[in-house]
Order: sequence, then structure tokens, then C-alpha cells
Amino acid sequence: MAAGEIRQDPDPVLRKVAKPVRKVNRQVRELLDDMLAAMRRARGVGLAAPQLGISRRVVVVDVGDGPIELVNPEIVHAEGSETAVEGCLSVPGLVGEVPRYRKVTVSGLNRYGRRIWVEAEGLLARALQHEIDHLNGVLFVDRALEVREALPVPRVVFLGTGEFALPTLEALYERCELVAVVTRPDRPRGRGLLTGSPPVKERARELGVEVLQPASMSDPEFLDRLASLEPDYLVVADFGRILPPPLLAVGKAVINLHPSLLPRWRGPAPIERAIMAGDEVTGVTTMYVSERVDAGDIILQKEVPISPEDTGGTLRARLAREGAELVVETVRLLVRGEAPRRPQDEGLATYAPPITAADEVLNWTARAEDVVNHVRALAPVPGARTTWSGRLMKVGRARRAESAPEGSPGEVVALTGEGFVVACGRGAVEVLEVQPEGRRWMPAADFLRGYHLRVGDFLGKEGD
Ligand code: ZN
Repeated sequence: MAAGEIRQDPDPVLRKVAKPVRKVNRQVRELLDDMLAAMRRARGVGLAAPQLGISRRVVVVDVGDGPIELVNPEIVHAEGSETAVEGCLSVPGLVGEVPRYRKVTVSGLNRYGRRIWVEAEGLLARALQHEIDHLNGVLFVDRALEVREALPVPRVVFLGTGEFALPTLEALYERCELVAVVTRPDRPRGRGLLTGSPPVKERARELGVEVLQPASMSDPEFLDRLASLEPDYLVVADFGRILPPPLLAVGKAVINLHPSLLPRWRGPAPIERAIMAGDEVTGVTTMYVSERVDAGDIILQKEVPISPEDTGGTLRARLAREGAELVVETVRLLVRGEAPRRPQDEGLATYAPPITAADEVLNWTARAEDVVNHVRALAPVPGARTTWSGRLMKVGRARRAESAPEGSPGEVVALTGEGFVVACGRGAVEVLEVQPEGRRWMPAADFLRGYHLRVGDFLGKEGD
């Protein structure tokens, strides 16, 4: 038997009561190292020495907050109870609902023989109880209310590029077998906004996941590599490239995460367009990818409210997190064969076109609430633009001015303690944060101290 190989039921060593360690010496430290390595290789959250064939009272646990090593561990306090699904590296293919204490305090020796106490709840408490059971020859199947076959962990290839895709990438890495990540090629630095490596590539590298960057999505070499990975599912989020028909046939399903409640806001800029339109609710949708962009059958949706304080930036971050959870739930349902499928109502479809340079320019003839929404939607990047005194000025934050002197659209009608008030087509807005050309973002009050903006000046004036 190879060193570090995990023993499986019905190996008799798993049923023996393990002996206490009398002295924590170098051998024990080497055992701890071997156990941690074996646990990580198997992607488990805990391991007990008998699982490596060594009948000694030593356990390691890591539920994601760093490794805990315990020699001669004992539960010295326990309270509450909680039933949840458990599996075991020594009982492959089975899972069961196991009642455990919800909170425990475990005392034991660390790798230097010093006594430590670990207070744990939730998953950590469960893992510690499971591993200590191993020291007494007890397996989770002995305690389980019912035992069933574990569903296979799905093999997933993730296709993504930008920041929005990162939470989904991380969730898939945690919950599935992420066999590769596909992202766009690197761009030479110093040319436009999207330079260097895509954020998804950087993170995938850190996680040690294979990265594919095909120049063309139809590249035969890329398609061959993809097929050889035998993925069950392709998951797409913030990818920025169209999938050609041969890709749609890979695996059991190709699904996409879209940051809107489809069929509303199909297209590349759903987050900005939702805020610009003054929507108070948006959401995330998972769907089957079809040849028509964002038109595939819906699997799951979750509503996400848009608060008046939200900007494009804050909403994007929240939708990215909500979307990652929705993708994990979607994959779980796909694996169980329980994923719903609901065609989109074409009659309700709206389109969210990309934000062009022209879209960034504030229209002061619009209603005050629309100007405010325009500013929110584009903050902090690219930022809503106007001009003042012949120079570019970006507006990062603005609110409706409740009462303001009359003025023509774009006219500065008042200076306040926090900024300045600009008349709109209907109503007026108070500008609170600006970025003058070539400068950083600054509170409008600071801007007023450094620049000579006056009542009667115009923003976005023709010819500016
Ligand atoms: Zn186990």
C-alpha cells in the first residue's frame, strides 16, 4: 500500500480504538505533515491517523480557516444539536444525515506538545466530532439517520473574464471539480482599458486551475482540449465572447449567469441600464445558453433590490455574489436532474446596449431623477461626463435638490455647503462629488474651494 493512501471501510484499522500518543516527538510531527498532505490531496476537511493505517489519537481538520492539528483530542464541552449531511474519505460514495453537537470545545496537544483548546461550531464542530469518532473506531454511517449514495461531484469548465466572474469562479472551485478555466487572451499593456491578464486568469492561477486562452473559440486544438477534459457542465459568466455552436454541445449542459431578471435587460450592460432606468429591483438569472444571446431557457432567478444609494459599482459587486450562489444551486439541481427549464417571454424582452462614449455624457435637459440615475449607473467607472469652462468634468455623486432657484438646463443655480446645484430639464440636482479633468475624484465642496465655479456658470454647454 502506497504511503499516505487513505484506508477504506471495511479495513479493520478503522474499527480499532486508537492508542493515545505518549510523547509528541518528531515522528508525530511527521505524521501530522503526512495527514495534512493526504487530506489536501483528497480535498477533505479532516483526517484521523487511523485513516492512514496508524492507530494513534491524532487528527487534522481544515474547513477553510487554516489547519487545526490535535494530538489526544477530547471533547470537554458540548451543547446543542444539529443534523447535516456528512461523508467520509474512508467511506467513498456514501453520504448520510448525521446528528451532532452544534458547539463543542475540544482540548488536545499541538505539534509541540502544548495543550490547546478549540472552540468550534457549525462545520468545524462537526468535522472535529467526526474525526474524534475515527479514534474510537466509529464511522459516520454508524450514527447516520439514513445513508444514501453520494451524487458524483460534477466536472466543470468555467468561462469568464472580468471581476464580476470572480465570486462564481471561487464558488465553483469550492463546490465542484473545476477542471479548467477559459478566458480571453492577455492584451498588451498600455492600450485601452482592458490591458494585461484578465482578473479570472490571475485568480485561476492562484487556485492552481488550468487556464485556456484560445485566440478563437472555434480553434480545433482548444475544442479538442476541452473535450478531453470531459466536463459535465460549462458555466459562463462575464465572458465577453460568443460561444459557437460546437461549444454548446460540450458536456451535459452549458449555462450562463446574467445579472438581470431576464427577459428584462438582455445584452452587455444590464446593470448600468437597470439603474439608469430607475429600476428598484433587478436580479440574477441562470439559463441554458442558446445560439441567440441571453435568450436561452431560464433555470433559476433571484430578485435583488436596488437601493437609492446603489451605484453601478456597488450593485455589480452584490449581483456577482448573489450570482455565484445561484450558479452553485443551479449546478446542484442539474446534478440531481431537478433543474427547471422555463422559456423566456419574448414579448417582455428589453435590451441593454453597451455603454458608449456618448452614453457617458450627462443630459442636463433630462429630469432631475434621470440625471441622478445616470450618475449612479456609471459610478465609479466609467463615470458620467459633462464639461465646465471648456474642460471635461466627471460627476460621481449627485442627488435631487428639493428646492432650487429657477434656471436653464445645465446652469449652476446655487452653491451649498456640500456642493453645487445644477438646473435640469425638470427640477435640479445637487452635485456632491466630481473629478475635474486630469485630477482625482473629490468632494464637490473641495472642488469649489480650488476652482472658481460660480452661480450662472453652465455645465455641458454647446461648444464647450
Ligand atoms: Zn471520516
